[in-house]
Amino acid sequence: MQLSRIETWPLLFRLPEPYGDANGMKRYRSIFLIRLITDDGLDGWGECADDLAVLSALFRDRIGPWLIGQPALERSRLTERVAAWHRKAAAAVSMALTEITAKAAGLHVCELWGGRRRQRVPVYASFQSYSPRADWAEASVARIGRALDAGFAAIKVKIGGKPFAEDRRHVVRIQEAYGDRIRLILDGNQSYDAACARKWCASFRHWDNLMWLEEPIPFKRAGDWRLLRQTMGVPLAGGENMAGTADFLPLLSAGALDIVQPDPGHHPDLDAFRETISVARQFGLRVSPHVYDGGLSRLYALFAMGCLGPWSKMEGERGEPVEWDVMDNPLAAIWPIRPENGQVRLPEGPGLGLAPDLDAMRNYVWDGSRYDD
Ligand code: MG
Repeated sequence: MQLSRIETWPLLFRLPEPYGDANGMKRYRSIFLIRLITDDGLDGWGECADDLAVLSALFRDRIGPWLIGQPALERSRLTERVAAWHRKAAAAVSMALTEITAKAAGLHVCELWGGRRRQRVPVYASFQSYSPRADWAEASVARIGRALDAGFAAIKVKIGGKPFAEDRRHVVRIQEAYGDRIRLILDGNQSYDAACARKWCASFRHWDNLMWLEEPIPFKRAGDWRLLRQTMGVPLAGGENMAGTADFLPLLSAGALDIVQPDPGHHPDLDAFRETISVARQFGLRVSPHVYDGGLSRLYALFAMGCLGPWSKMEGERGEPVEWDVMDNPLAAIWPIRPENGQVRLPEGPGLGLAPDLDAMRNYVWDGSRYDD
C-alpha cells in the first residue's frame, strides 16, 4: 500500500477581537492540515502549526513529492526523514500515517495503542485572559462564568502579562465569584523570575482549589524550578514547547516538575509524544497534555490519555485533564467532538472514529494574503 496523493489545507481565521497571554496578543488563528491518501483509497489527516506560506511551500515542493510512492505503513522511517526537514511537519505526517495504519487494520487508533482504559477523558477550559480592552479582567470573569454554565469545572487563566497586583486582583475576583465550584490553574508562560513567582505564595496559602501553577519561570533555570517546586506549595507543570522526550529529561532528573505537559504537535511524531508520557510515568509524574493550535492534536492527546492508566487511585483521572481551548477559534471546531460536563467521550470506529467537517474548512482556506503584520 503506497501513498498516492496529498491534499493540503492552510486555514486562517482573523480574530474579530484580539486575545492573548503573557507573550502578547493574538490577532489570528491558523492551522495547516494535510490529508494523505493511499492507492487503496485509505486516507489520514495530519496537522501542524507554523507560518502558512512556509508550510505551503514545504509540502508543495519537498515533502509532498517525496511522500508520493512511499509505503504507507513505514511510519517511523517516513516521519524521521520529514523531521530532518521540519519537525512540526513531521508531526502532521505522523498523524496521517497513524490514522491510515489504524484504518488498514480495521481498528480505532486507541486499539492500535493498546486499547482504551476509559470511555471519557476529562478536559479543562483554557482561556487567553488578556485583551487590549481596559476592562479585560471583567470580560475574563464573565467568560469563565459562561464556561461553568457549559459544564466545565476546571479552569486555566493567564498570569504574568500584567503587573503582579493587577494579575492578582483578576485571580482574586475569579476566586470570589467561583472559587467554591472550580479547580483553578494559573499559567505564567515563563514570564516571571523566581522572586516574583514567589509573591504568589501568600495568596496560595488561602486557596485550596489550585490544580497547578504552569510555567512560572523560563525553563533554562532548572535550579530555580526545583526551588519553586519545594517552596510554592502547589504542583508545578510545564513542557508545552519541548521538542521531544530528551528535552524533558534534564528537568525530570532535576526534580523540577510535578506535571508533564507534552504537546503532540511539538514532538516530531506521535510515537515520541507517547514516549514522553511513558517516561513521565517512570518518574512517577502526572501528565496533562498541552494542545492549543489544532483540534486534531487535541484529539490525539485525548486518545493517548484514554489509553493511559490512572495516575493515582485517590485523585484518578481528574488530576490529568487535557487542555480544551474555549476561546473564539472555529478552526478547532471543524472536528465534530465536544465536551459534556467537562469530559469528552472518545469516538468509536476505524481510524479516528470521525472526520473533519470539509464544508466548514472551506470557509477558512487561506487566500495567500499577508496576515501576520
Ligand atoms: Mg501554558
